[in-house]
Amino acid sequence: MKMRLPWRVLTPHTPPVRTASSVPAGALNFVPACSSTDAHSVELLQDFVSRACRLFVITGAGLSTESGIPDYRSEGVGLYARTDRRPMQHAEFVRSAKSRQRYWARNFVGWPQFSSHQPNCAHRALQRWEESGKLHWLVTQNVDALHSKAGQRRLTELHGCAHRVMCLGCGVITAREELQTKFIALNPDWRAQAGVVAPDGDVFLEDKQVLHFRVPSCEHCGGILKPEVTFFGDTVNKSTVQFVHDRLAESDTVLVVGSSLQVYSGYRFLLAASDKKIPIAILNIGPTRADHLTGLKVSGRCGEVLSVIQPL
Ligand SMILES: [Zn+2]
Repeated sequence: MKMRLPWRVLTPHTPPVRTASSVPAGALNFVPACSSTDAHSVELLQDFVSRACRLFVITGAGLSTESGIPDYRSEGVGLYARTDRRPMQHAEFVRSAKSRQRYWARNFVGWPQFSSHQPNCAHRALQRWEESGKLHWLVTQNVDALHSKAGQRRLTELHGCAHRVMCLGCGVITAREELQTKFIALNPDWRAQAGVVAPDGDVFLEDKQVLHFRVPSCEHCGGILKPEVTFFGDTVNKSTVQFVHDRLAESDTVLVVGSSLQVYSGYRFLLAASDKKIPIAILNIGPTRADHLTGLKVSGRCGEVLSVIQPL
């Protein structure tokens, strides 16, 4: 399993004041439109969870939108719909010092807000399911640390975590918070206004603003520092994938929460579950790539639905 570093001690989160943004504050702005889940669907999901002894849960961006972190794909409210921004590509990050400078400058500005997000009632519900012995393993595609902030321990962060930084040279892992201190020391006069923060902590800045932003290298080997996050175009570590397959093989039921499963790295576990004839349920707003593999699809807000399901 991957090493997990603590994040800084958090003070209660006050919503940031937005001065020059078209996006108003408030978490539900990033949650797609959805009517309340009907009682019958909730009952069916309760039955499904009640029958599970070793529940395997996969979560995605839909869980974190309720904590105020936008996703990329949601209809109307995701970043793809609202902006022309696209996530950083792995190859571009490795190849181009200029891209890394732009990436880190934006990430530096977005960090105070991104790192202050708190788990919501969906994260807390899943943590209680673990505590009660219902949940065998949780795999998240999110990199926002909200599951570990909620106290989840039987957890794999499939795409890494933005709260950690990795050196591409020597592989050493450090806390993102430490890097923030270095950024401040290296860029004492650097000022920029935070705009819209992306799922990976990125924000929007003009190119001319980032020209003079200084990025430190690894203090052990001088290597390139990268968030310990799987960027688009990169692949998830083989041993992590195998580890998750092993946890899945020990499970008797699979529940997807807040993911459209568009990315293969998560979808492959649904294919594996289907091959093994493990029952699958999905709780998500909107269609998913695995709808044809599931016996139960519930459309609804993760927090609203999970907080009324009992891990009996
Ligand atoms: Zn290094």
